[in-house]
Amino acid sequence: SDKPLVLEVAGVRAGYGAVEVLHGVDLAVRAGEVLALIGANGAGKSTLCSVVTGGVPATRGTIRLGGADVTGLPPHQRVRHGAFLIPEGRGIFPALTVDENLSLWLPAEGDRESAYRRFPVLGERRGQLAGSLSGGEQQMLALAPALVKPPALLIVDEPSLGLAPLIVAEVYAALRELRAAGTAILLVEEKAHDVVALADSIAFMAVGRVAWQRRTAQVDSDLLVQSYLGIS
Ligand code: ATP
Repeated sequence: SDKPLVLEVAGVRAGYGAVEVLHGVDLAVRAGEVLALIGANGAGKSTLCSVVTGGVPATRGTIRLGGADVTGLPPHQRVRHGAFLIPEGRGIFPALTVDENLSLWLPAEGDRESAYRRFPVLGERRGQLAGSLSGGEQQMLALAPALVKPPALLIVDEPSLGLAPLIVAEVYAALRELRAAGTAILLVEEKAHDVVALADSIAFMAVGRVAWQRRTAQVDSDLLVQSYLGIS
């Protein structure tokens, strides 16, 4: 593919205190494409998400968003470079109402009305505390700002965690809609089978490194099995 790179991670090391978790990560996401980041529990996928958006500093290497080196920038400045993160657990505020949560990202009332048109159930529950929503509704709430104002890059960490299959299908439909709107997506999932239909490429992470990144068509089930068994 020769589309421009929206995200480029090169030689990134990072961790918590003295414990290094990422041991030199290389990863690239192209404009308008979905890259699925898969790998076992604890491989460092969530940490990599935080390093991209600036929550965890990189001790080595570089992070580029839309071609700009953002390695030294604080999180709020990276948002301006188009990176929007929905963390594991969805990052919503359970003690605020649906409308208050949305207003943090969509201060204009008209934009919130757009969100309610896209997700009518959120409109019906706009005055309810976000913590009282079902898991699926909370995921819709987390996704709604991106659908109203599509970012250059959406990073979404385990969006289907704990959701029933029908709701997962709805979440994936929303991600497809976002890609159609031109948003590139870094989609973190533990298991590979959920992402194959959506992802343009797949990256497999093992103990703090990206072991491989390939176009989805070049990933067969043997490679996946070997990767999870630590052979590849
Ligand atoms: P999971 O699917 O469980 O989230 P993951 O691939 O996203 O797995 P991370 O959550 O990035 O992996 O965790 C990688 C390593 O970093 C683990 O050993 C974890 O215990 C450690 N770790 C994660 N967050 C912190 C933190 N805030 N403080 C200290 N260590 C952490």
